[in-house]
Amino acid sequence: MKNILVTGGAGFIGSNFVRFLLEKEPDVHVYNFDLLTYAGSLENLKNLPSPTRHTFIHGDIGDADLLDRIFSEHAIDTVVHFAAESHVDRSILGPEAFIQTNIIGTFKLLQTARKHWLTGASTLDGYRFHHVSTDEVFGSLAPQDPAFEETTPYSPNSPYSASKASSDHLVRAYFHTYGLPVSLTNCSNNYGPYQFPEKFVPLMIFNAMMGKPLPVYGDGQQIRDWLYVEDHCEAIWRVLKFGKVGETYNIGGNNQPTNLEVLDSICAILDERLPQSPFRPHASLKTFVKDRPGHDRRYAINITKVNTELGWAPRHNLKAGLEATIDWYLNNTAWLQAISKNDEFQNWLDNNYEK
Ligand code: NAD
Repeated sequence: MKNILVTGGAGFIGSNFVRFLLEKEPDVHVYNFDLLTYAGSLENLKNLPSPTRHTFIHGDIGDADLLDRIFSEHAIDTVVHFAAESHVDRSILGPEAFIQTNIIGTFKLLQTARKHWLTGASTLDGYRFHHVSTDEVFGSLAPQDPAFEETTPYSPNSPYSASKASSDHLVRAYFHTYGLPVSLTNCSNNYGPYQFPEKFVPLMIFNAMMGKPLPVYGDGQQIRDWLYVEDHCEAIWRVLKFGKVGETYNIGGNNQPTNLEVLDSICAILDERLPQSPFRPHASLKTFVKDRPGHDRRYAINITKVNTELGWAPRHNLKAGLEATIDWYLNNTAWLQAISKNDEFQNWLDNNYEK
């Protein structure tokens, strides 16, 4: 692991991973390849540790010629693939970009790695294509169902999860068919610093800070597993270093709160942190809105494999993770303003939720 191509490294998890990697691995160079869609920003890459070991490259994973040049010029030996369209709501409104980036883009990246690694290298030791995916590929669980395991059949319900499921299958197929050294992780909902404020946790923090309604889909009883982003980064790093080629690992935070419970925790922490706020109690801003079509009811994820084989477990429980996240947002209002000032986002925020 010397020259690492991180795709989507200007997004939420990708930028956290770039920081994590530069701190953890003193000898790697990170080539951060990102299209800077509405979800990616160079604001997420300010004050990196060891910035001389980081090179940002602007581009689209669908651009095979550019990928080819990057692999040649920088002798890429490791890919950590985050780049994706990642928001379920947006996939319902406009699925095409999800097919283009998540499926076709992943295919182009696989083809490039295959071309450079399988024809050029005498050994595949030290090469790895790691694909970052989601637990949403497994679909929705009934209350009595056991948590998702690595062998749970795929049953995606949204255009987003269907496109991620497709990309997972392609990655696995490149291992079985061509021998590309791949690994995969399927992770639950992430939250933490640098998350674009359209997603549940930062949206609630962002709106609550400004006294805006806190939109809750349906009855708010949907259950998710939540993981603090830094814990996810460590899990990916462990899989890269110690995971077996060709394997998939489920990653999660070992919790199953309802959306309403998460929101109540956020409001309680904000009440405590902002004793002078005119919007206290923040829970009074809760507003129930029409449910998302095809909304999965329950996700839960079994992390026994990554725990027993690679010794990984989350370091933050939900309360500690939410406190750290809220403190970060309260201390980084300049970031929040810079990120949220774009008109497209404001428009989306104002029009997305039906009462
Ligand atoms: P994000 O939307 O914050 O970031 C995605 C990044 O990809 C952005 O920087 C964007 O500019 C970039 N990008 C989009 N299209 C691109 C293209 N065609 N070429 C190059 N770059 C492109 O997403 P995130 O929440 O950081 O998620 C990262 C990955 O992790 C995704 O693959 C997602 O499916 C997966 N994942 C996310 C979560 C979560 O809760 N956020 C959970 C599990 C898995």
